[in-house]
Amino acid sequence: MKIRIPVYRPTIEEEELRAARSVLESRWLGMGALVEEFEKQTAAVIGARHVIAVSNCTAALWMTLQALGVKAGDEVIVPSMTYVSTPQAVLAVGAKPVFCEVREQDLLMDPEDVARRITFKTAAVIAVHYGGRICDMSALRRALGGKKIWILEDAAHAFGSRCTEGYAGTLADAGCLSFDPIKNITCGEGGAIVTGDDALAARLRRMRNVGVDTARQSRNQTGVAA
Ligand SMILES: *Cc1c(COP(=O)(O)O)cnc(C)c1O
Repeated sequence: MKIRIPVYRPTIEEEELRAARSVLESRWLGMGALVEEFEKQTAAVIGARHVIAVSNCTAALWMTLQALGVKAGDEVIVPSMTYVSTPQAVLAVGAKPVFCEVREQDLLMDPEDVARRITFKTAAVIAVHYGGRICDMSALRRALGGKKIWILEDAAHAFGSRCTEGYAGTLADAGCLSFDPIKNITCGEGGAIVTGDDALAARLRRMRNVGVDTARQSRNQTGVAA
């Protein structure tokens, strides 16, 4: 007998409906205390130092590349098997995506091929944990041979995946998560950036709110509508 697993249909039950209703009833939509709580809980689940919630994983990838200073003239190595967001985020900062081969057995980027594609223009590598499987991060680090090249994880498929080094998203300079309805878990639309770097986290927190530092809640305490 064939069993169909509805991977693209989110489970929405009483608990989710109640949670959504309480948010709507609070009339506090968007950035607020609940987003902060979401970041804290996500960080606790995957053992991350910083989690910065953003609108989706595409934005997370783009913002992270920008925050790391990846720019026009740079090259970013991405696997040839991924969703369009990965190379599009590279194009959005003006850099050039350079596609590398994936391994036949698991569709993950081939570190040996990454090594072959490194040039003096290579600024970053985006490791996509395809289908929930985690790339060989130590082989990838070896492939970079000590060069100053950022490693980003595109963990859009891999929230909750874990290897001996830790959870997907916590294994490199920064990791990007997706909470789109077709991903592992969802909050409708959503994404997050994971990093252990305090300065990068601070920059990303400012960037996601177009450079405005004050939390909307504290501005609203003065009675000004945000
Ligand atoms: C879905 C997906 C993204 C983009 O996620 P969004 O939250 O929809 O922007 C990025 N990378 C991969 C590998 C994906 O599958």
